[in-house]
Amino acid sequence: YEAKKYKNSVRLFVPLMQEGYLNRVNVEQMLRKALAKHEIYMVYQPQIDNNGAIYGVEALVRWQNEELGLVPPDKFIPIAEASGLMPELGHFIIHTTLQEMKTLQITLGVTFQTSLNISIKQFMEAHFFEKLIYEIDRAKLAHVSLCLEITESLFIEDIDYILPLLNKIHDMGLHISMDDFGTGYSSLSILRKLPIDELKIDKSFVDTILNDITAEKMVQNIITIGKNLDLYILAEGVETKEQEVILKNLGCDRFQGYFYAKPLAYDTLKAFFETHTIAS
Ligand code: C2E
Ligand code: MG
Ligand code: MG
Ligand code: MG
Repeated sequence: YEAKKYKNSVRLFVPLMQEGYLNRVNVEQMLRKALAKHEIYMVYQPQIDNNGAIYGVEALVRWQNEELGLVPPDKFIPIAEASGLMPELGHFIIHTTLQEMKTLQITLGVTFQTSLNISIKQFMEAHFFEKLIYEIDRAKLAHVSLCLEITESLFIEDIDYILPLLNKIHDMGLHISMDDFGTGYSSLSILRKLPIDELKIDKSFVDTILNDITAEKMVQNIITIGKNLDLYILAEGVETKEQEVILKNLGCDRFQGYFYAKPLAYDTLKAFFETHTIAS
């Protein structure tokens, strides 16, 4: 799978930048050409329900460049955003994901949920909503089979713009998930007003849950709040059986992480679906 193939190149990017061999302008120029050179592609990480069945996937973007190696998305997305490339990159991400996941569903004769990460900059783009619905309808996917992952940083922006737009998206049938929950700023009163379906407990809590009682208590509190609001609770970054056991005991309903599967390229994802139980 992808992580193995590029094992060494993942680390190449950061040192090159730190040594000043690469500057932002070089990288920006390379990124500008990346789409046309087919260096950008999508991988998909399975999401697992309480019974161990796959109910969905999270789409994650990758940039594989000859010189830079595999550049992590949290490094190149900010560059794309700062240089005005994000509308084009975002369109590629949405279009490719919807087409590939539709193809997979037809090929396997199954349906499942697809989650897309949407940054605050993307969310604030002109006609974001109209373009998204256009692509979903073009792929002939049911609105309810889509989920948008947003983060708490969204609410630094104008809530009077964000909230009606989120409601419109939710009213169209799409699901909304609050990603990296617990790391950012969001007041409980805002949480109550939001049309969200799921909380994703940040990996940092999952990482420490076995040996840090504070992390465990935080997770317990997050789950209590989420359940009171009738939300699904997903734990991200689950790497061991022990983590799964404690998270299940605390009341998590959904799981994602290397313990189940890494983010997978299309063909490997297809094989994973063929060999695992799919939620009905
Ligand atoms: P995120 O949405 O919170 O995604 C989870 C990240 O954790 C992913 O990193 C995933 O590969 C990684 N991960 C999942 N399970 C495990 C695990 O068990 N152990 C470890 N160590 N890591 C795990 P990735 O793909 O590098 O993405 C990082 C961030 O970049 C994402 O965080 C998301 O904020 C952003 N991102 C990725 N793809 C997209 C995209 O298509 N659009 C936008 N706007 N942002 C994206
Ligand atoms: Mg995410
Ligand atoms: Mg996350
Ligand atoms: Mg995260």
